[in-house]
Amino acid sequence: MSKSLYETIQKTSLKVTPARVAVLRAFTRKLQPLSAETLIHKLRKADVDNVTIYRTLNIFEKVGIIRRVDLRKDSICFELASHHHHHFVCTGCGDIEKINKCNLQSLVKKSLRQAKKFASVDTHSFELFGLCKICAEN
Ligand SMILES: [Zn+2]
Ligand SMILES: [Zn+2]
Ligand SMILES: [Zn+2]
Repeated sequence: MSKSLYETIQKTSLKVTPARVAVLRAFTRKLQPLSAETLIHKLRKADVDNVTIYRTLNIFEKVGIIRRVDLRKDSICFELASHHHHHFVCTGCGDIEKINKCNLQSLVKKSLRQAKKFASVDTHSFELFGLCKICAEN
């Protein structure tokens, strides 16, 4: 069992189970948003049942190991929460490109100063939808 996966789970004071390690490994291998359906498909060989996968996603989200990403796909996608970033999403083929640099801090601050009801912002999401170069050519 990989030590860092084990530690990531342990740090949240969740019990380390083979299913949790398998789900976390799938996220760290792919480093891309995954839906529950994709995970179920990937973990078929790992002998983790569907209910456990849904439950693991829930609990991982609650403790902050993963976060939801809205890619406007049919199902909810999750990815590791450890590295803050944004995405380009192709509305033609569904391809995703990471935007590593976040330039939104000043926008967040400015918006917050103008807010009438809000005192603080904990997090934000920002996804850009359009066509990838391949889809744009066709
Ligand atoms: Zn991402
Ligand atoms: Zn595309
Ligand atoms: Zn950001």
